[in-house]
Amino acid sequence: MKPATLLLTPAAGISPAEVDAWEDRIELLSQRHFLDGIANWQSVNIVPLMLIGILGLYQPDWRLTAALIALNGLCLAAMFAITRYLQRADNPPSKQRLWQFYNGLAFLSGGLWAGLMFPVAATLGKDINSTFVCVIIIVSVAVTSMVIATRWRGFVHFLAGVMLCLVPQTIAYIDLIGPIPLIATIALGPALWGLAAAVYRQDRSLIRVQLEKDHLAQELSRALEKAEFLANRDSLTGLYNRRAFETVASTLRSAPDSAPICLVLIDLDHFKSINDRYGHATGDSVLQSAARVIVESMRPNDILGRGDGAVARWGGEEFLLMLPNCALPLAVQIAERLRVRLGELTDPAWSADLVVSGSFGVACWAPEAALHQCISDADQAMYRAKQAGRNRVEVCQAGDRAATPHKPDRQRRLNRADAQD
Ligand code: GH3
Ligand code: MG
Ligand code: MG
Repeated sequence: MKPATLLLTPAAGISPAEVDAWEDRIELLSQRHFLDGIANWQSVNIVPLMLIGILGLYQPDWRLTAALIALNGLCLAAMFAITRYLQRADNPPSKQRLWQFYNGLAFLSGGLWAGLMFPVAATLGKDINSTFVCVIIIVSVAVTSMVIATRWRGFVHFLAGVMLCLVPQTIAYIDLIGPIPLIATIALGPALWGLAAAVYRQDRSLIRVQLEKDHLAQELSRALEKAEFLANRDSLTGLYNRRAFETVASTLRSAPDSAPICLVLIDLDHFKSINDRYGHATGDSVLQSAARVIVESMRPNDILGRGDGAVARWGGEEFLLMLPNCALPLAVQIAERLRVRLGELTDPAWSADLVVSGSFGVACWAPEAALHQCISDADQAMYRAKQAGRNRVEVCQAGDRAATPHKPDRQRRLNRADAQD
């Protein structure tokens, strides 16, 4: 049974499915940490084995000590090879067989560490070398337990190996060495278990905190992206709003090779009557479809598209296009094709007799002029398109500015002209 670790609660904003995915990620990260650290430790094991070997030379049973050291060395070398292999694997948790083999070797190694006590057990407390060997074995077993504690099964196998080999020895030699070693050995098991459980929990909670931090950082950056999007976009069509368009326009304007730049202002015709006849929701849907057509037309793979412009919803049913590196004749051509596409707009949800059209005003943005001056030019041209009967493209001309009334006046005039029609 693994030690309990803190579970993420739904209060942290994480669904149960995500918690499972997190547990898998925690396991993966924990294994990676373990594999990165264990290789060094397995090499360090040579030191206590060598010390025991040197001290074992003074024991009558030195051959047994040498054999146990050799076996334990082989065992540790095999564990080293497995961990090195797993370290390079893409998905170590999927290598179940290897982990099982590793656990088996951990059991064997635990038994061999405890077995090294056998040649010195009879002289414990009487001979200084034997006592030294005993201390080295206990320290090695304790440190190894802590090092492999994060692989809980590996630790349990290792401890089982130690206990199964050590307890019978202390019982067998109880007449010679008394009951204290037996009691100490029995106490060693729960002590190592408790310490290893603490290490395991610590490891898991550190990884969990790291993952939570990463998760929150991702959430924050998503929220920032969303906030930026909302601040720069029109909520109905997703196009740039005025503020964002102005920023993008000045960036595009200052880009090298952006000249000549043209602006196209589009105003949907008789939009008020679309709303009145078919309802506001249909009006919204027309605005969204018109926006989609305009954006699609701007894409580089479209026949009109160039991919480097900007589109904004400039007002209620007005759209503004900026076409960098585009001379006036090409801008007129683009506007004309867009006008045709708007006229072809249909939607299964709309009434069959709903026809969309727009009046277009095209103006060239002179290098010395301000953006708003050019927009005003495009607006004047668009006004002439309205006056000339709508659903057409007009280009800003020299006399436009002087001849065109202010916006409120001209809307009144257009309405009056409509009423007379
Ligand atoms: P014109 O051909 O002269 O441009 O006529 P028009 O009816 O299109 O122009 P007008 O300025 O009289 O009306 C524009 C209408 O657009 C009025 C307004 O209710 C509508 N409108 C503005 N924003 C929205 C919107 O977000 N959704 C909908 N459905 N309608 C909108
Ligand atoms: Mg309008
Ligand atoms: Mg209109």
